[in-house]
Amino acid sequence: MTDAVIADHSGRPIRVGLDVGGTKIDAVAVSSDDRIVARLRRATGWGEDAVVDSIVGAVLGLADELGVTTSDIASVGVGIPGLVDSDSGRVLHAVNLGVESLDLAVRASARIGVPFRVENDVKAAALGAAVLRGVEGSMAYLNLGTGVAAGIVVDGRIWRGSRGTAGEVGHLSVDPSGRLCGCGQHGCIETFCGGGALAKAWGRPGALPVRDILDAADAGDADALALRADLFHGAAAGVRVLVLSADVERVIIGGGLTALGDRLENGVRGALRAGAEASAFMRSLRLDERIELLPAGSPAAAFGAALVGASVPSKEIVSHG
Ligand SMILES: [Zn+2]
Repeated sequence: MTDAVIADHSGRPIRVGLDVGGTKIDAVAVSSDDRIVARLRRATGWGEDAVVDSIVGAVLGLADELGVTTSDIASVGVGIPGLVDSDSGRVLHAVNLGVESLDLAVRASARIGVPFRVENDVKAAALGAAVLRGVEGSMAYLNLGTGVAAGIVVDGRIWRGSRGTAGEVGHLSVDPSGRLCGCGQHGCIETFCGGGALAKAWGRPGALPVRDILDAADAGDADALALRADLFHGAAAGVRVLVLSADVERVIIGGGLTALGDRLENGVRGALRAGAEASAFMRSLRLDERIELLPAGSPAAAFGAALVGASVPSKEIVSHG
């Protein structure tokens, strides 16, 4: 568990959060009253050394932009894909970054003398979305990007589960005869509504394949109509499993596919309604009313990372009970 309690007693005013993606780092500086006071994007390096370099570069770039030095930075939080040991700050198998095993917190901290904490990117984004959208109680963040994953936040804390797997709904198989998933199963939710899987199934050139699919579906293209239905059906399945397993009050949808805006939100909402039509039980859950979309380009992931950076690892909290 990660606690979002601010642990900074150093008097340093700035917390930094980085969302490290396959191609770019989104970096924010957060003031002591939780305002984002600077934001920048940097290219992500490939491989372990280059990833550390680009992370350190982004922190120094933010400090430059603010006209402060690293001695004004209380903490840095990093959201990064892959398997993350949030206690040690070690990252494993971040294949999109060329990282097999990296002691990220130790190495980055040694470079600039600021404490680093590291969390899985979707879990950090979940915390950021919960705070930015003012959710109290429980919520899930469903990330629809190249891949599909979710993070669950309960009472302001990331719910990691016993092995950090909580929220990995992208790999729930909902059609055993469906498309092969990168994970080895068939018909995972990710094969229906992941941007990567949809682009592959579409197979036509274009910079924004999922937008092309929606445009072609609007024009009546049969392949596109089927893939559009898959997208909405898959995302609705993700929402359904999150509510049925954790009964979260809200499901906030984020990730690259939010660039589709209302077309995505209305489509998922419609699929949820249609799926509940025959079931009084499912209708009673009002799933269509529980979803909302983050605006495209939302800083939720980097902001959440900043909150993670300033939090106390659960095993360092001393119990006086
Ligand atoms: Zn899978």
